[in-house]
Amino acid sequence: MTAYDDNNLFARILRGEIPCSKVHETDHALAFRDINPQAPIHVLVIPKGPYVSWDDFAANAPPAAQAGYVAAIGETAKLLGVDATGYRLITNHGDDAQQEVMHLHVHILAGARLGPMVAGGLQPQT
Ligand code: AMP
Repeated sequence: MTAYDDNNLFARILRGEIPCSKVHETDHALAFRDINPQAPIHVLVIPKGPYVSWDDFAANAPPAAQAGYVAAIGETAKLLGVDATGYRLITNHGDDAQQEVMHLHVHILAGARLGPMVAGGLQPQT
């Protein structure tokens, strides 16, 4: 697994070295608007701990950090007012998912009918 780099973009946002458009913050997580939105509402939720991706977080984060992160994602959706209308959560891990920033983030996408889950669809594995 890729080692965590303390100077990745989202680590720098967490330290306040790079600004963000904050939506929500808890002891465990920070939520802010994606700089290149792919839907009318596009917010990223990141844990405060140093985890490269979901794979790392699921294996290595303490239960309290995992619970706090999951709760913060739900709270963020409610604050955005999309819990009634619906939203999609996406997290990319590794090469095939084309993860760009190596600090775990869950995308909250909402505010419109979101279309197919994967662009263009892909052939199922046989
Ligand atoms: P991923 O491809 O899942 O790693 O997603 C990385 C996301 O980070 C992309 O949706 C980018 O638009 C977003 N992003 C990159 N730089 C920033 C930034 N400075 N502030 C907010 N979002 C960013």
